[in-house]
Amino acid sequence: MKRILFEYKFTALYLLLGLLWIVFSDRMINSMTEDHTILTRLQTYKGWFYVLVSGGFFFYYLRSHLVRLRDAEKKAVESDRLKSAFLQNISHEIRTPMNGIIGFATLLENEDPGDELRKEYLGIITNSSNRLLELVNQILDISMLETGTVNVHPRETGINRLLLEVYEQMLPHVKPGVEFRYTAGLESGRDGLVTDEYKLRQIVGNLVHNAVKFTSEGSIEFGYTIQKDKAIFFVNDTGLGIPQEKLTEIFKYFRKAEDVPGKFHEGAGLGLAICKGNLQLMNGWISVKSEQGKGARFTFEIPYTPSEKGASRTNVPSLFESTSPDKFLTGFPPKAFRDATGSQQQTSKPAKEIFTDDLTILVAEDEIMNYRYMSELLKDTGIRLLHAANGEEAVEIFKKRPDIGMILMDIRMPVMNGFEAMKRIRGLKPDLPIIAQSAYISADDRKKTLDAGFNEIINKPFLREELLEVIEVHSPKIL
Ligand code: ADP
Repeated sequence: MKRILFEYKFTALYLLLGLLWIVFSDRMINSMTEDHTILTRLQTYKGWFYVLVSGGFFFYYLRSHLVRLRDAEKKAVESDRLKSAFLQNISHEIRTPMNGIIGFATLLENEDPGDELRKEYLGIITNSSNRLLELVNQILDISMLETGTVNVHPRETGINRLLLEVYEQMLPHVKPGVEFRYTAGLESGRDGLVTDEYKLRQIVGNLVHNAVKFTSEGSIEFGYTIQKDKAIFFVNDTGLGIPQEKLTEIFKYFRKAEDVPGKFHEGAGLGLAICKGNLQLMNGWISVKSEQGKGARFTFEIPYTPSEKGASRTNVPSLFESTSPDKFLTGFPPKAFRDATGSQQQTSKPAKEIFTDDLTILVAEDEIMNYRYMSELLKDTGIRLLHAANGEEAVEIFKKRPDIGMILMDIRMPVMNGFEAMKRIRGLKPDLPIIAQSAYISADDRKKTLDAGFNEIINKPFLREELLEVIEVHSPKIL
């Protein structure tokens, strides 16, 4: 139905009320007296009464309408500003790493800069690529939180080890002179907690990353305390701080405290929104206190369910079983920051070098560039590689080559996807190690993939050590 505009409604109401007033008030006055002088005076009073009442109505309606209009206008201007700030920020977040990749790749292509510079350029290309990947992962995380397709997967988690890992990942990024420390609220060995380790790592990692990013002097401290049935985590810094009016805003998607283009710090403004969304799923909450120029204090809380075994038994060695917190820093390999932000769910220890001339791996991968990357990673290992461009080709090649000892299977492929191909090949050889390789995999999809029958999942892009480790663990020919 067509909406009647305000001005029409308003005028119609005004005329109707006026008409009714004239008709009824005239009748009323005429029935009261026949004296013309009194009638004239009453008519004047009536006119005044009408003017005053209709003026009151007028004022009330116009004001409420204009207030709504002005609010809407303010919101439109603000949203316009945010939209252009958002576009500028996102375009900056995409262009900066892209420029790094294209620029330095071109430099390498055009001339030989010598060993040292080549290493530096390649480092820039890798960092830029990781930054881009992080952005894509954040956007995917947000869209999954929005569509409600994220589940919590609690498992036993050693909190002290998790804090140590975040500490070590961040340490190289802390600005010189800034004191960086963390404190654990539970003794090592008794720090087991049943929670979603992946999400907890992502939340702590993001808050500490922010603190590191925004602090150029003073100190950064993070840690946790246990209060009855709650684990309360904190990340305090003495950095830039956040203006009061932005303290709620920054938990919304794509919002940053500094919303003036040109003043942006690195980041798409998604980290805190992801933290908040994940904490809601984990029955927790997050809050922040801050004074501009003096630093920020982020606090978040999750339910504390102690693990029955005390400390966690997960896929990385527990450093804390016999180590005191003072010795945290010994012998643990620093990892790329992307681990802390969650793009990589498993931690990896340095893999041994592999050499075997007794293993043939079939790589099912539709992107020829990815296949070339893998063959480059494995070139000195003696492993023979075969390539299939889709799932159907993988099944065909497998039927013809009984020497295939392992398959690295991309999940999303044309013609036949990785799931289908894996099932067919499993039907032919049930105990063959088939590893799924995927560009982005959520905790839910991870479970589905393993339940479907893959032996393992490796997240793309992987490092040489990660690939070698998976091959080593799953290949009977090497073990
Ligand atoms: P970003 O990727 O931009 O850091 P976040 O969602 O993690 O996204 O943070 C949103 C914004 O909140 C940041 O852009 C920054 O303005 C502000 N902020 C977050 N943490 C801090 C901090 N420790 N100190 C100062 N400002 C912060």
